[in-house]
Amino acid sequence: MATQLSEKLEAIYQKILQRNPGETEFHQALREVLESLGPVLVKYPEFADRKIIERIAEPERQIIFRVPWQDDRGEVHINRGFRVQFNSALGPYKGGLRFHPSVYLGIVKFLGFEQIFKNALTGLPIGGGKGGSDFDPKGKSDNEVMRFCQSFMTELWRYVGEYTDVPAGDIGVGGREIGYMFGQFKRLTSRYEAGVLTGKGLDYGGSLVRTEATGYGATFFVDEMLKVRKDSFEGKRCLVSGSGNVAIYTIEKIHQLGGTVVACSDSNGVIVDEKGLDLALVKQLKEVERRRIKDYAGYRKQARYVEGGNIWEIPCQVAMPSATQNEINGKDAALLVKNGCVAVGEGANMPTTPEGIKVFLDARIAYGPGKAANAGGVATSALEMQQNATRDSWTFEYTEKRLGEIMRNIHRVCYETSEEFGAPGNYVVGANVAGFIKVAKAMVGHGLI
Ligand code: NDP
Repeated sequence: MATQLSEKLEAIYQKILQRNPGETEFHQALREVLESLGPVLVKYPEFADRKIIERIAEPERQIIFRVPWQDDRGEVHINRGFRVQFNSALGPYKGGLRFHPSVYLGIVKFLGFEQIFKNALTGLPIGGGKGGSDFDPKGKSDNEVMRFCQSFMTELWRYVGEYTDVPAGDIGVGGREIGYMFGQFKRLTSRYEAGVLTGKGLDYGGSLVRTEATGYGATFFVDEMLKVRKDSFEGKRCLVSGSGNVAIYTIEKIHQLGGTVVACSDSNGVIVDEKGLDLALVKQLKEVERRRIKDYAGYRKQARYVEGGNIWEIPCQVAMPSATQNEINGKDAALLVKNGCVAVGEGANMPTTPEGIKVFLDARIAYGPGKAANAGGVATSALEMQQNATRDSWTFEYTEKRLGEIMRNIHRVCYETSEEFGAPGNYVVGANVAGFIKVAKAMVGHGLI
């Protein structure tokens, strides 16, 4: 059951719903933020007077376009491209591109909406946006992916730029795809504008630690939540869902901090390795050979693969969902708590349903919502922009140190805000309120635009 909204907020919510029918994930993300904002409107009545919520919920600009491309056999395919430029109160639009068959406007808008507040929490000068396509890179050849990326950028280039909108990766978009899009942008514009995309290769303006940043950052955030409870990762049994970019570097950092990750997954099934996952093997299979996670079982005797399995049924002390939205429902959450889980840190965006969130909050376990916990990725993208702007490149150690500082700061701001707004230790309230106030104040400052 969702938390009740005040009459005023419920009316705002209903109106936005009517204006945006069928965008269920966007509705879910919106409602979660509104549930935290009651006390904010009491403290800052000017936000209501100036209709800040209604304005924040309406993207500044939405671009939807045709992406035609040809496969290796010469057959023509048509996909749909999206870029939602949600809010530029704090800086150029910033947020990833997702290539996955499930992508439609409702997904892009939920991600873009969350991105506004996440980016505000980083303390860096970046607005919120998101984009992508219903193109499925799975099973496509390198050449097919390249042709798709070139076609995608052939439309998108008009709307992006280091001072306007700076896309990055997300599900289905990693270094390879960013490289192809950067190449096409450069070709179309005749400009070497490194700051137009982040997550670039290290040979041409990418930042060290960007690949690791989301997973490392989410793990740092959980470490901070554990510290508040005088606890740590040392000796903890952990689960990390997914086996993509975020999952891999979450596993890496958990292992560095003394925890043991006993399972990961993909959309087909779950790998369980009670001795702790062999990360070098996971990286070889996923990053180098682009294979499925089930192949892991062929290399480690004690590992088992459960086709269609549910990772959250495995007992653990720390759970880090790092695959996709709504992957933990109310039942999964209750099972995690019952099995002794003390901390959940969201590497993925909105991986827990509203019912699941309620279970975690009621159980008073340490629950770090994605908006705060996975902000390390975009924060390091902003550090990549800084390096590009000054034609500089920083060392791994220095960049990781900056990431650690940013994550500790986000944790502190969320914690202090949760206390100030009467919900100590509730990071959902902390993240929503702190992010919202920062953007809202900037919007008030800019006048009615
Ligand atoms: P990747 O494409 O690298 O990996 C995604 C992983 O999640 C794969 O293992 C994939 O399995 C699994 N997955 C994707 N969709 C589904 C689904 N519908 N059901 C079950 N499993 C699924 O993406 P990332 O690691 O970059 O992103 C993971 C999450 O982290 C997303 O929610 C993303 O928005 C979020 N995030 C990413 C950031 C980044 O810097 N990359 C920054 C902040 C958040 P399969 O191969 O079977 O599809």
